[in-house]
Amino acid sequence: MNDLIIGCHLSSSDGFLSMGKTALSIGANTFAFFTRNPRGGKAKTIVKSDTDALIRLMNENNFGRLVAHAPYTLNACAAEPRTREFALMCLGEDFERMEYVPNNYYNFHPGSHVGQGIEKGIELISDALNQTMRSDMTTTVLLETMAGKGSEVGSRFEELYEIISRVKYNDKLGVCLDTCHVYDGGYDVVSDLDGVLNEFDKIIGLDRLKAIHLNDDMNPFGSHKDRHQRIGEGSIGLEHISKVTNHPQLRALPFILETPNELDGYKNEISVLRSLYKN
Ligand code: FE
Ligand code: FE
Ligand code: ZN
Repeated sequence: MNDLIIGCHLSSSDGFLSMGKTALSIGANTFAFFTRNPRGGKAKTIVKSDTDALIRLMNENNFGRLVAHAPYTLNACAAEPRTREFALMCLGEDFERMEYVPNNYYNFHPGSHVGQGIEKGIELISDALNQTMRSDMTTTVLLETMAGKGSEVGSRFEELYEIISRVKYNDKLGVCLDTCHVYDGGYDVVSDLDGVLNEFDKIIGLDRLKAIHLNDDMNPFGSHKDRHQRIGEGSIGLEHISKVTNHPQLRALPFILETPNELDGYKNEISVLRSLYKN
């Protein structure tokens, strides 16, 4: 049986190889990173020798796929044209940059429709993907399940399916399920994980589920607040989080911690979750 594939968000400020080394030092075999400053702005130049060194380190240490994260400021369905242009620029550039580390995942928040309505949001998001995705890209783009805060699109599986169905190269599209977001969004992964996965399968198809953001939730079920908590300290709890990592239909996916922690806290969560992973 394979190892649990687990890691956390790492800072990309010292480059790619440095993230790989940091991941190893905390017992991780995958990681997430922001493709550029989450506040937006110009992306740092990628040095090929650096990404090649990371690829070697990943191969030597049996890493799972990486789950890059788009900046939070990327809103593909903004009402403001300049914000949408920034989103298009970001997506296009990031897809090119991801090819330095081929065959990994690129996760993004579908967007907030800011009063234009869900339907318009879905149209703008799928349009943005159709303008930026290329037939020869090796990256799989992941839509993140959202908590439904404000006017967020993507808190219902139906909305994610609707986006996917309108994208031309949707063989390169998948979903990243965030445990805090779905629980906050009204999918009860605590008392009925199987039911939630069945619903996902019925609406989107479980073959689209490619990665998990593993977070506890600071707020009660269905609160639409999106506040992540450390593993075992929130309303989901350690027992139910380890049911997620051990679930037969999820256990082989990469799990990314986005809990409020420093590196030693992540190291501890990784070791606790590894000890609860059944072989
Ligand atoms: Fe996210
Ligand atoms: Fe997340
Ligand atoms: Zn969140």
